[in-house]
Amino acid sequence: MKYEVVIGLEIHVELMTASKLFCGCSTAFGGEPNSNCCPVCLGLPGSLPVFNRRAVELSVTAALALNSEVSLRSRFDRKNYFYPDLPKAYQISQYDQPLGRGGYLEVEFAGGERKINLERVHLEEEAGKLVHAGDSIIGAGHSLVDYNRAGIPLLEIVTAPELHSGREARRFLEDLRTVLLYSGASDCKMEEGSLRCDANISLRPEGSSELGTKAEVKNMNSFRSVELALDYERERQEQILSEGGSVIQETCHWDEEKRQTFATRSKEGSSDYRYFPEPDLLPLILESSFVEHLARQLPELPARRRKRLQEQYGVEKDEAFLFTGNKELGDFFEAAAEEYPNYQHLSNWVQGDLLYQVRESGKAIKEVEPRLVANLLQLLDEGRINRPVAKELLAEMVQAGVDPKKAIKERGLEQITGRENLLPIIEEVIASNSEAVDNYRKGKKKAFAYLVGRVMAKTEGRADPVELNRLLEEKITGDL
Ligand SMILES: [Zn+2]
Repeated sequence: MKYEVVIGLEIHVELMTASKLFCGCSTAFGGEPNSNCCPVCLGLPGSLPVFNRRAVELSVTAALALNSEVSLRSRFDRKNYFYPDLPKAYQISQYDQPLGRGGYLEVEFAGGERKINLERVHLEEEAGKLVHAGDSIIGAGHSLVDYNRAGIPLLEIVTAPELHSGREARRFLEDLRTVLLYSGASDCKMEEGSLRCDANISLRPEGSSELGTKAEVKNMNSFRSVELALDYERERQEQILSEGGSVIQETCHWDEEKRQTFATRSKEGSSDYRYFPEPDLLPLILESSFVEHLARQLPELPARRRKRLQEQYGVEKDEAFLFTGNKELGDFFEAAAEEYPNYQHLSNWVQGDLLYQVRESGKAIKEVEPRLVANLLQLLDEGRINRPVAKELLAEMVQAGVDPKKAIKERGLEQITGRENLLPIIEEVIASNSEAVDNYRKGKKKAFAYLVGRVMAKTEGRADPVELNRLLEEKITGDL
């Protein structure tokens, strides 16, 4: 029997607020454990939550960016469960009245663009962080808890079960991350845990519309591990089903080193959480003008930018994806394009040599001035410098902000062109390398490259390579 994989994702993103959702404690990452805590985020008796307006602005912005319908009235509930990372033994979350209903993202998969629907977008507070001493979660001797994270505003985004492979889940997440980054709601740093993903995965016979029993996969720390974990889990379930067994509804953890999932506990149903309205908070009522204002403030989002880049600059689809996925690189390209109208040439340099140099030098693309790259390409187009010199100057520009126009004047880097300038040097090289010249005449192609190299060395790499090749060939074969 052939099976179809069905995957739904639950994504948690920390919002980029300066303070926590219900108190004034800092949300800064990496502080001394338990240093950003107060009675509210520790859930001490008598403390009361006070709402963070910025968290609402950012969640509404994110919901709008995800095409979700923003509820003007939403409510907070207590989600009760006992776990040491949760100081109050309940989490303030949203249940039946979430901030955002529905929504979708249009994602480019191998088989073309497809709309992936969202079920909801809701706001809740982050739990603390457990640090397990020892090798693995199961083998730890004891655990430590850090409540710095407890109470950071967290957005939960739930997709419909509409993804069908690990690869698709990864593509969706990459796009979601880009949208959230553009919206400014979160910094989406997976390595710092500000973007995390759990997945529900089940199998069903191909053609069936009923969902099979699902497993929830947790602890995937990168986009790559999401893909690997889901592919592993698909195989595991397929094996069980093809042997006539049935999948148990359970929560699995992904073990990055062993490259496998293992079950940790049977999954609670939502009734186990005994949700009830949070008595310490009023319902969240938004003015429609507040939402409209935020909608107007939304920046251009990736899907639209991709289309615009193709229309405005004539770049290819994959280039548009690159310049959208890497926002800084796209911003750089557009800024340089204002001063340099040969867009395809610019695009080639930006995604090729420039990106390479930036990565090599460990600099940020923001540190390079777009104007200088535009100038460099103009010099190249005008034939005032040759390609090797341009590459050299680009490297210096990235590392030290070298201005190419100044550099070629000060250091005499201008390309040597013209018969009258090149021929004397070529003749000199021919005269002093008669063996190589003879070899070339006998058909040894490599000898020619050697002679070109000699001329380049004499001109410190500044000879116009096309003209040099032509003149050298003419001179040796005696067509002159
Ligand atoms: Zn606090």
